[in-house]
Amino acid sequence: MLPRNDVWKNALSNAVRDPAELLTLLALPRELLPAARRAAAAFPLRVPRGYLRQIEKGNPNDPLLRQVLPLGEELLTVEGFNRDPVGDGAATARPGLLHKYRGRVLLTLTGGCAIHCRYCFRRHFPYGEENPGRDGWQGVIDYLQHHPEVEELILSGGDPLLLDTPQLQRLSDKLRGVPHLKRLRLHSRLPLVLPERIDDELLTWLAALPWQRVVVTHANHAHELGEAQGAALTALKHAGVTLLNQSVLLRGVNDSVDTLHQLSERLFSHGVLPYYLHQLDRVSGAAHFEVSDERARALHRALQTTLPGYLVPRLVREVAGEKSKLPL
Ligand SMILES: *Cc1c(COP(=O)(O)O)cnc(C)c1O
Ligand code: SF4
Repeated sequence: MLPRNDVWKNALSNAVRDPAELLTLLALPRELLPAARRAAAAFPLRVPRGYLRQIEKGNPNDPLLRQVLPLGEELLTVEGFNRDPVGDGAATARPGLLHKYRGRVLLTLTGGCAIHCRYCFRRHFPYGEENPGRDGWQGVIDYLQHHPEVEELILSGGDPLLLDTPQLQRLSDKLRGVPHLKRLRLHSRLPLVLPERIDDELLTWLAALPWQRVVVTHANHAHELGEAQGAALTALKHAGVTLLNQSVLLRGVNDSVDTLHQLSERLFSHGVLPYYLHQLDRVSGAAHFEVSDERARALHRALQTTLPGYLVPRLVREVAGEKSKLPL
């Protein structure tokens, strides 16, 4: 038997990577296979098995399936969609460190993810080999020490929780040498797509950190929040973590008032506040997910009439060169 703290690594390496296997497991038509194979050659398929169990068998339009199934549409060239839509290339302060907004910096710990979301702008990002930890985090620590206005460090990726807990511990030990740091934030999809990752070792690490801790999860649909995810979120809460969620507005996944309403309700039932609803980054390969600004605004306005204000996420878009995400 595996020690409890290594269960997640097993679940991670067991993820489904073969389009044919995905179709078989979900009882989907074989006609989907040639396109899935072609699209997966550009951005590989990857889905943890636990996520698959939340997908309805035989339904090619399942909102969770649409986030992970490679489609021929991804290979189309569409005007206005490109490879670096948010201008990250220009904001790199140190390898892996993005300083775009005042008071907070974003550190990319890994290019890897447990799940490959077909709409993600990271599908083209070249930082797979750029491991900022190679120099023992010294470049990052130096930068923070010379920027006293930075009070919040955001760990991002890829998925920062793909680093194992001893690696995270080494980073946080170094960060204790940055006196003006107040908050540590993690942007991670793992509490929802690989809830095994929220194990005792990670919770012990989180609970002992000297800063305020925030975890921003990424759920797009209420079906992503089942029992295992609820337990992981509750455990994070007990470790003193403030829980927020960001979603991406995606055609065919969550572009209805009902779906967004249920998502907010389900999130809050697990102690998570909706934070952002992002308009899609216009990355090539994702055009078929786009919802027009006009419809996005209409959905958001309607949502405001069905939910208390604190359960309505801010509708925003990331625009290269701006000092914050822009409200629509
Ligand atoms: C989105 C983002 C942040 C965080 O922005 P908040 O509005 O604080 O959530 C920080 N840095 C970068 C580079 C980002 O893209
Ligand atoms: S960065 Fe987030 S949205 Fe993008 S592929 Fe990874 S988990 Fe999905």
